Amino acid sequence: ATATVTGLETRGLAKAFGGVRAVDGADVTFHHGKVNALIGPNGSGKTTFFNCVTGMIKPDTGTVTYDGRDITGKAPHRIARAGIGRSFQLCRIFPRMTVLENVLAAVRPPSVPLLLASARHKGDIDRARELLTRVGIEHLESVEARDLSYGQQKLLELAGVLMADPETIMLDEPAGGVNPALIDRIAGLVRSLNAEGRTFIVVEHNMDLVMSLSDHVVVFDRGRPICEGPPSVVQNDPRVLEAYLGI
Ligand code: ADP
Repeated sequence: ATATVTGLETRGLAKAFGGVRAVDGADVTFHHGKVNALIGPNGSGKTTFFNCVTGMIKPDTGTVTYDGRDITGKAPHRIARAGIGRSFQLCRIFPRMTVLENVLAAVRPPSVPLLLASARHKGDIDRARELLTRVGIEHLESVEARDLSYGQQKLLELAGVLMADPETIMLDEPAGGVNPALIDRIAGLVRSLNAEGRTFIVVEHNMDLVMSLSDHVVVFDRGRPICEGPPSVVQNDPRVLEAYLGI
């Protein structure tokens, strides 16, 4: 009998755009309980990989399984329901809605008027406030999202992701464009959420952050992993240097 892998696994995953093989036969396993990082030079296929896994785009070939269940090509809401949440490189927020409304919109379409919704979903509002407190922006709940700093918007997006209570959280460049104080806060949140049992898969360019935060690093080059292991091992692997320098 084959043992079922607990966590997220891809086998032979591939996606091409015209002649560009963005993801090119990727076999990757991200185990539960860990902070996993996915790194690699620009254009190595990390975002396309995220999009294939979360159902934003359908892979051409290959499989994605979660705890042994096939989720290949399923719609994003079904993948979310399976327990995988994700953030986006450029935040997915509604700029003219308040911070609180944005967190609520993560579980309900924004077309539902908040007043109407609030009568029905008092529990959601309590939970949204709890999560805003957790990420440290509860004092901004009535502010329009467009008036937040970029780092605060990232925290808002994370609160929205947490509304669905995902077991696995995929973060696309959580520290990109964020000031150092807020990077520390985001890192602290990842650590504490992981200590509570949530699994992370993080695409990030800030190497200091990747190396200090992750248990397991997968390095992509040309659409597939070329090296993986703990940060100390990956950091010293000549293939990684080669991929980044493009020699
Ligand atoms: P990364 O996230 O590692 O920077 P991407 O997944 O964004 O890499 O891109 C991988 C390759 O696929 C790049 O060559 C990129 O130009 C190409 N690519 C990504 N998305 C598209 C698209 N929608 N149409 C055409 N080419 C794309």
